[in-house]
Amino acid sequence: MEIIPGIYQFKLPLPIPNAPDVNVYLIQGDRGWLLVDVGWDTQEAFDALDKQLKEIGLDFKDIAQIVVTHIHPDHYGLAGKVKQLFQAQLTLHQIEKDLIETRYIKVDHLLQEVADWLRTNGTPEDELPSLQRASLGVIEYVTPTLPELTVSGGEVISTGLFNFEVLWTPGHFPGHICLYEREKRILISGDHILPLTTSNVGIHPQSGSSPLDGYLNSLTKLKELDVDLVLPAHEYPFRELRQRIEELFQHHREREAAIVDLIRDKPKTAYQTATEIPWLADSGGATWQSLSPLNKRLAVGETLSHLESLRGKGEVHKTHQENVFFYRYSK
Ligand SMILES: [Zn+2]
Ligand SMILES: [Zn+2]
Repeated sequence: MEIIPGIYQFKLPLPIPNAPDVNVYLIQGDRGWLLVDVGWDTQEAFDALDKQLKEIGLDFKDIAQIVVTHIHPDHYGLAGKVKQLFQAQLTLHQIEKDLIETRYIKVDHLLQEVADWLRTNGTPEDELPSLQRASLGVIEYVTPTLPELTVSGGEVISTGLFNFEVLWTPGHFPGHICLYEREKRILISGDHILPLTTSNVGIHPQSGSSPLDGYLNSLTKLKELDVDLVLPAHEYPFRELRQRIEELFQHHREREAAIVDLIRDKPKTAYQTATEIPWLADSGGATWQSLSPLNKRLAVGETLSHLESLRGKGEVHKTHQENVFFYRYSK
């Protein structure tokens, strides 16, 4: 679908039931096209990309550059294959590049770190293996590859017809980037801002110490931009960037207030706190037991990102008992 002259949105299917399609954007240039995000490495995603390229009279070899907003498998998985077959140049944030090996190539160390992290945050031993291994299956949908170019924010990626400034927007993932076409007032927002879903912002072994603060700071910066059209990596393009940012701030304020209430009288672990939060409120709510192992792990990480942000503001006190961390509101 052509969103505006020279920018096409393609939808690629995901291999996991109930997971949302990913949007990839194809941007015209005078020296080849730019593809932003690539989809999972599955035959279905490859064929869907091929078919949609052909529909607009293009071929893979017309793609000169690929920019991946972050290395989650739905954005990065297919990059290796497309690059190998058609010699496109891949660009990633430097931080993302540094995480590729531990995340997708030598995963044993990261798996051990995830187990230690779950244990010290109060996950019961009988649940630990399923939470630890919850995302291991997605590795088969990624062909790891290193970028030709790395960025850190502030660079301009040009196609000749469009000039996108690289904005470093940590939070959902530490080296996540958005792309901003200042003159045409277009923001490609990746997973940083979606129109309906609140992006996962959680602590995990690769997240850095306070991803929530990074996320909120990145949102504050984006709020200053003059934007007419937001192109997100899931769901649909939308226009009201500032309103959506306000909704996201509100969501995090409400979540923070709920967490403060839970730890006001009694110190709790992140796991214990997470089990008492009403999750998925937007879609009718879900009990803790009904969450999938992956969603439980993400929930512990999100809870912890709030606890650590509150601790950074001096409102929460952290203690430990036999290598397990407890948090208590102490303002
Ligand atoms: Zn993501
Ligand atoms: Zn995504």
